[in-house]
Amino acid sequence: MNAEDISAIKALLSTPKHIVIVCHKNPDGDAIGSSLGLYHYLKQYNHNVQVITPNTYPDFLKWVPGENHILKYDTQTEQSAALIAAADILFTLDFNAYHRTGTMAPALEASKAIKILIDHHQAPDDYATYMYSDVNICSTCQMIYHFIDMLNDTVLIGPEIATCLYLGIMTDTGSFRFRSTSSTTHRIIAELIDRGADNAAIHNDVYDTNSHNRLQLLGCALTNLKIHPEYRTAYITLSQDELYKFDYKKGDTEGVVNYALSLNNIIFAAIFIEDRQEGIIKISLRSKGKFSVNEFSRAHFNGGGHNNAAGGKSEISLEATVEKFISILPSYKDVLNDE
Ligand code: 5GP
Ligand code: MN
Repeated sequence: MNAEDISAIKALLSTPKHIVIVCHKNPDGDAIGSSLGLYHYLKQYNHNVQVITPNTYPDFLKWVPGENHILKYDTQTEQSAALIAAADILFTLDFNAYHRTGTMAPALEASKAIKILIDHHQAPDDYATYMYSDVNICSTCQMIYHFIDMLNDTVLIGPEIATCLYLGIMTDTGSFRFRSTSSTTHRIIAELIDRGADNAAIHNDVYDTNSHNRLQLLGCALTNLKIHPEYRTAYITLSQDELYKFDYKKGDTEGVVNYALSLNNIIFAAIFIEDRQEGIIKISLRSKGKFSVNEFSRAHFNGGGHNNAAGGKSEISLEATVEKFISILPSYKDVLNDE
């Protein structure tokens, strides 16, 4: 985002507007944190602001300041569609292609609003009027901080914005341990604490609210873990029946794939989760080092994301999906052993 874009956006925001903020389907901490962080910022300028998510999000995000004002497109479609159609400005956060918003995509495509994209995923589509895209930044929440900074407004960051932005930086960096965590990230985090983010409380609210069933489901996932040392690869499966057995709730499988990646000498990890309702196998891929799961997912599983964290899906059975995955590994043997 250059100085010209910033002054154009500044001028745009200098009078009250109808603004809608949207994020990707199945919102995570970064999607919710960036949307609500920006929401609290724009509210201070008396804009009419609404956050709309394509669908709901896990219970461990149902405490974030402002979360109770979010509209969900799948269950509040009419109201959401009307607001999108009437918006002057549409912020699209933490995704860069309309299809990532599921059934909300046609409403976004039809919108005549000025579109501002802020996102850190690879290969953005070309739909935005103003685009702030940077794959080297750990989280969209950090980009919202930079965005507010470019508008010379960090003084407006109070406890609510600080909490929202801390949340997404924390979740997208695996609590500040992934390679995307820079010294700048830590400096911003320090400032967010100074501006009122209660770091210990945020960690507690997100990570220490497990149900007994969720831990049992994790036990099941770890029992299903398989390792292919010759490809430095490990994967986990969870069938729909296993999810039912442990009373699966949205968000219960978040982070489980990282256990596979934590194994000694493993640099490529996957989890395959059966979703009978959608008729798909949801796939999460993680890697360490140069091996790009973004490219792997784009090539084989209809998805994408970042170099070291990507998602995808498959429309064949769980067993057939795993078989396909294993059959692809030999063609990556050299790359996977070249780390
Ligand atoms: P997760 O495995 O946690 O669902 O996703 C990992 C990363 O890849 C996230 O940043 C997510 O936004 C992205 N991602 C997940 N699924 C897809 C997909 O189907 N397509 C694309 N382009 N990105 C995805
Ligand atoms: Mn993100």
